[in-house]
Order: sequence, then structure tokens, then C-alpha cells
Amino acid sequence: MGTPSRRKAAEDAEVIVVGAGPAGSTAATYLARAGLDVLLLEKSTFPREKVCGDGLTPRGVKQLIDLGIDTREEAGWLQNKGLRVVGGGVTLELDWPDLATFPPYGVVRTRQDFDEMLARTAQRAGARLLEQTNVTGAVVDDRSGRVVGVSAKVGPERSPVTYRAPVVLACDGVSARLALSVGLDKIESRPMGVAVRRYYASPRSKDDYLESHLELWDRSGPEPRLLPGYGWIFGMGDGTVNVGLGILSTSKAFGKTDYRALMRSWLDGTPEEWGFREHNATGKIGGAALPMGFNRTPHYARGLLLVGDAGGMVNPFNGEGIGYAMESAKLAAECVVQALARPEGPARERALAGYPVALKQALGSYYRLGNIFSRLIGNPLVMRTATKYGLPRTTLMKLVLKLLAGLYDPKDGDAFDRMITAATRIAPSV
Ligand SMILES: Cc1cc2nc3c(=O)[nH]c(=O)nc-3n(C[C@H](O)[C@H](O)[C@H](O)COP(=O)(O)OP(=O)(O)OC[C@H]3O[C@@H](n4cnc5c(N)ncnc54)[C@H](O)[C@@H]3O)c2cc1C
Repeated sequence: MGTPSRRKAAEDAEVIVVGAGPAGSTAATYLARAGLDVLLLEKSTFPREKVCGDGLTPRGVKQLIDLGIDTREEAGWLQNKGLRVVGGGVTLELDWPDLATFPPYGVVRTRQDFDEMLARTAQRAGARLLEQTNVTGAVVDDRSGRVVGVSAKVGPERSPVTYRAPVVLACDGVSARLALSVGLDKIESRPMGVAVRRYYASPRSKDDYLESHLELWDRSGPEPRLLPGYGWIFGMGDGTVNVGLGILSTSKAFGKTDYRALMRSWLDGTPEEWGFREHNATGKIGGAALPMGFNRTPHYARGLLLVGDAGGMVNPFNGEGIGYAMESAKLAAECVVQALARPEGPARERALAGYPVALKQALGSYYRLGNIFSRLIGNPLVMRTATKYGLPRTTLMKLVLKLLAGLYDPKDGDAFDRMITAATRIAPSV
């Protein structure tokens, strides 16, 4: 005998998830596996491109493993064993740390492939994926003020449709259209980043390390200025390389810099044989914003949860967002599963209110430190000093890598792990 549906007659699903990026597909997978009826709404059609660096540190890989994704190279991933840091006249190869919490490897895969794979995983788990469904805003109940569904434009004709469910997850990325429709603006005092990337055919396509270049000089003004951010070179293993750069909003140059020109000038200075020249480009330069350090809150209010970029989950230390989108999705799904097993009313609300609490516990203090860090390096003097004196010190850089990539064991770790854990204990949560 099948399980009787818990859906009310006027509802289209038990949970609506808006956006099938890493946040949405991960949440939909966990929710569907828990037996919930999930509607996953996506404005585009898979496979589709997403402007990204395509790189995951072990922190992101852990999320894939938790979800049951096969991350071996045979399954189409290019694994890497650490980070190569270039700057201050030195090149350092730092292997990912050996930890109990995270695997010792990162991965690279195009988002075109990656996102479709995750969306299909959600479908296989039982989520109903509707593509070409562009959500235009929340449906709010007049009396309770709760979000009880979404309105959308569907198909090439953009026909208006309304979907209803007792809980809605906003996983629609940095545009955060759903959150904006209920008045949740971004918090201007929290850091943002801007990043641009392009693919090139290059002999550097197979690389055991993710490479980051810490010296990005803005030469557009009278004085060259060292920018807070980094350039990356991630070999894709298929003859191409994903090259890009990201800059933090905390510098004076933010918003005034021509990022595409900055990228061209950086790449023109790289060795000819790497191939980062116009004639080797396999596509256009694409760019987008990086919402960091919980820059949109509350993460739960009145039936709506903000997950991934929509809730500003990008790590302010390093600009990584895929793993954190998945991590927040997992926490959100756990709370929603508990909530929907309870009757409507205060008991259910208590379970949903557990989501921002769980997020704060997992990332709040670490992101608070990250927000401070991003302000510090927004000062060119601090950035210059850190690059000049920090980089040549391998032991110090091992600590920096752990801190910047969130790769430390909160329990039973080494001395560095204990230092980072202590710092996050002292820092209040964002
Ligand atoms: C240039 C660049 C490089 C980056 N490099 C890296 C990197 O190397 N590693 C890393 O970890 N992170 C990187 N990031 C950050 C990362 O891309 C994001 O943090 C991550 O994609 C967030 O996942 P998400 O699911 O929250 O949002 P998204 O990936 O943006 O997914 C949102 C989904 O919602 C859909 N959607 C949007 N609006 C609507 C709507 N109204 N209705 C229906 N569907 C909608 C979109 O089509 C999309 O499928 C980079 C970002 C940029 C811009």
C-alpha cells in the first residue's frame, strides 16, 4: 500500500524549491529521499552554463560525498591534491591537509556538467523538476503574512502559473528574486565579490593543483594598486583551462574597476606558452557577483528559507560558494523534514527556526572572521604586507590555507586546527 499524501487539496507539493543550482538540487535530493513531495522549479533548461571557476576544495567534496555522489576520476571528476599559490616572487605547493572531517582531495568539473548531474540526482530521488519555469515572486497569504507558494512564468510562451506549498526554499542564486519579492534586501555592510572567468585551450589543462595568483594589480590609475582578491588557473583536464579573477567589495577600487580589462592585462603578462591569448579562448568572458558572509538574512522567516547564494553563503575568505550552497541546503532540508512531520503551527515553526540556528553554529563565527578579514585586506597596505612577508613562510601558509579554505578539524585537530577553532569560538556569530 502506498503512503497517503500529506498534501492539502489546494497545494501542489509539500515543499517548493526555487532554482536547481547546487543549493536547490541538493536540498531537493535530501527532501525527496526523506519521502517528501518536492517541486523543483528552474528557469533554464539543462544542460546549461553557469559562470563559475568550476573548482571545489575538500570542503565542497565532502558535501558531494555526503550526498552519495561518486567523486572518483572514473566518474568524470578531475581530482587535485592541493593549492599552488603564486605571489610575492614565490610559488608554493600546499597539499590539502590530512583531516578527519574532510577528504584529502579537491575536484574540478564544468558547471554545465556538474549542475545537470546534481539536478538528475534530485530527479532520481523523486523530486519533480520543472524546467523553463521562471519564478517571478512569492505568493503571500494576506492574513498570516506567510509565503504559501510562488508565481512563475512557464515555457516559451511565459504563461503565468501559481504553485502552492507550506514551505518554500529560495535557492535562486545571487539574483535572489524570491527574497527580494518579500522585501529581503542584501545587507550592504557585508562583503560582496565580483568574479570573471573565461575558458582557454591550453597545455596546462591537466594539473594536480588548483592554482591561485595573489597579486592582481590595477594599473588603470596614476599609481598601480594591489587589489584584494586573486586570479585562478584551474585545469579542466579536457584540453581547456578555466581562468578567472575575483575581487572583494572592500577595496576603494570596487565598482570602478573594469574587470574584463583587468583580466586581459593579467593574462597578457602570463607566459605565451600557457596559451591565455585571445585566439585560444573557447568562449566569452563571463562574470557575476559573489554574495558573502551571510549578506542576506533572516535565513528563515514566515515559510521562506534562503539557501546558497540567495542567503549570501559564499565564504568571504576565498570566494568558494558551491560547497557552502550544498552545506546550507543540507541543513535546510534537515529542518524542513522535521518541520513537516509536525502539525502546522508553533511546533512546526520551531523546527523551521532551527535552520538559521544551525547555520550560525556551522558557519556564523567563521564568516564573522571572514568578514573582518575581507575588510582588512581591502586596505592595500595590509594586502601588500601580507603578500610580501606571509607568502615566503611555508609553515605560516599552511595555517593560512586551513583558515582560508575552512579546512580544519573542530575536534581533535592539530595545533593549527585548535588555533582556528579557538578564534571562531571567540568571534561572535554574524
Ligand atoms: C566567476 C565566478 C567564479 C566562481 N568560482 C567558484 C569556484 O571555483 N568554486 C566555488 O565553489 N564557487 C565559485 N563561485 C561561486 C559559485 O558559483 C556560487 O556560490 C554557487 O553557484 C551558488 O550556488 P546556488 O545553487 O546558491 O546558486 P546558482 O548556482 O546561481 O543556482 C541558482 C539556480 O537558480 C536558477 N534561477 C535563478 N533565478 C530563478 C528564478 N527566478 N526562477 C527559477 N530559477 C531561477 C538559476 O538558473 C540556477 O540554476 C564562483 C562564482 C563566480 C561568479
